[in-house]
Amino acid sequence: MAKTIEEIDLAGKRVLVRVDFNVPLENGQITDNTRIVAALPTIEHIVGKGGKAILMSHLGRPKGERNMKYSLQPVAEELARLLNMPVSFASDCVGSEAETAVDFLSGGSVLLLENVRFHPGEEKNDATLAQSMARLGEVYVNDAFGTAHRAHASTAGVAAYVKPAVAGFLMQKELDFLGKQTANPEHPFVVILGGAKVSDKITVINRLLEKADTILIGGAMAYTFALAQGRSVGNSLSEPDKVEVARAALAKADERGVKFLLPVDNLMVDNLDFGTGTVGNTKVTPEGEDIPDGWEGVDIGPKSVALFTTAISSAKTILWNGPMGIFEIEACNKGTFAVANAVAENKEAISIVGGGDSVKAVKQAGIADKMTFISTGGGASLEFLEGKDLPGVTALDS
Ligand code: AMP
Repeated sequence: MAKTIEEIDLAGKRVLVRVDFNVPLENGQITDNTRIVAALPTIEHIVGKGGKAILMSHLGRPKGERNMKYSLQPVAEELARLLNMPVSFASDCVGSEAETAVDFLSGGSVLLLENVRFHPGEEKNDATLAQSMARLGEVYVNDAFGTAHRAHASTAGVAAYVKPAVAGFLMQKELDFLGKQTANPEHPFVVILGGAKVSDKITVINRLLEKADTILIGGAMAYTFALAQGRSVGNSLSEPDKVEVARAALAKADERGVKFLLPVDNLMVDNLDFGTGTVGNTKVTPEGEDIPDGWEGVDIGPKSVALFTTAISSAKTILWNGPMGIFEIEACNKGTFAVANAVAENKEAISIVGGGDSVKAVKQAGIADKMTFISTGGGASLEFLEGKDLPGVTALDS
C-alpha cells in the first residue's frame, strides 16, 4: 500500500500535489466541477495543517504547447470559490515564475500552477522536467487517480526526486474501493459489465471471474457472448474475432460456478442515427429469441432488467462498469437507468461505479449520491481492476 498524506508532517512545508483538474470547459466556463470538488479534502487537509499547497494538473490535450484554450486559470477561480479563500496562480508549472510564486506562499495558502501539458516533457516523463517540478516541493502528494495509469513527469517521474511521496485522500479512496473492496468483497459480489467491446474488458472479466458470485453482461458486449453461444445478433455491434475469448470466459464461469447472466431479451431498432439521437422502428425480442437480420440490439429488454434487478437486489457488494445500451439516445436508455436504480435501491450493499460512461449514466439518472463510491478514473479504474500496477501509485513510498 502506498503511504498516505495522513502519515506525514505538513506544517510549514511546501506540499506539491498532483491533482486531476481536467474539467470540461465551454467558452472558458467550467461545466462540471466534480473533479475539483473531489480534490478538496486533500487540499483542505494541507491548509488545515499549515502546509503550503502547490497544485499541478493537466487540462485537455494541448500536445506540449502553450495554448490558452487549455489554461487552468478558470479552475483557480472556481477553486477559490469552493475553498472560500484566495488561490494564487502561476502561469507556468516550472521555472522562475513558479519558483517565485512558491517563495511568496505562507503556511496554509494555496497556489495553482499552469497546465503541466504545456511542456512536451510531461507526457514523455522527461527527467529534467520532473526535477524542475520537484524543486517546488518538500513533500509530493499524488491525488490524481484519473491519470495514475500514465507514467508522466507530474504523475510518476517527479516522485523520484521529492521525498516523502505519498497518496492523497482521493487516491487512497480509489485504491481502497477499487482495490481492497473488490479483492476481498463481501458476498454475494455482483459485477455488472457493459459497454461497447469485449476486447476492452476481457481482462477485467477474467480477473473478476475469480472473485464474483454473479456477473451480469449488457451493452454491445453481450452480443459477442451471444455469438459465442451460437446465436445470431443481426446488425448489432459485435466482435466476431473475440468469440473464442468470450467462449473461454463462459467456460471459466461454468468451471468456477459463477453465475454469468446475459440478456434474455433485447430492445432492437431497424435504424439509428447517433448524431440526431433518433431511431426508426423499435421492437423487443421475445424472451430467448435471436436478433433477426436488419435489426440492431441497442439496450437490454424488460425481462433482462427484471433478471438483473433480482441479482442486484441480493448483493452485498456491487461493481458496475459500462452502460447496458446506447444510453446516450433516449429511446435506448431504459435498461441502463433501470440498472442504475436497482443498484441505488440496494441499501445493504457497497456499490462501486467504476468510471467512464456508467458514471455519466448514474449522474443522469440523478442517483449519484446513492452510490457508495464513484470512481473519478475511466481508463485508470479499468487498468486497476485488471490488476495492473499503476505507475502513479508504484512511484509513491510504500
Ligand atoms: P465503454 O466505453 O466500453 O464502456 O462503452 C460505452 C459505449 O458503449 C457507449 O457509448 C454506448 O453507447 C456503447 N454501447 C452500449 N451498448 C451498445 C449497443 N448495444 N450497441 C452499440 N453501442 C453500445
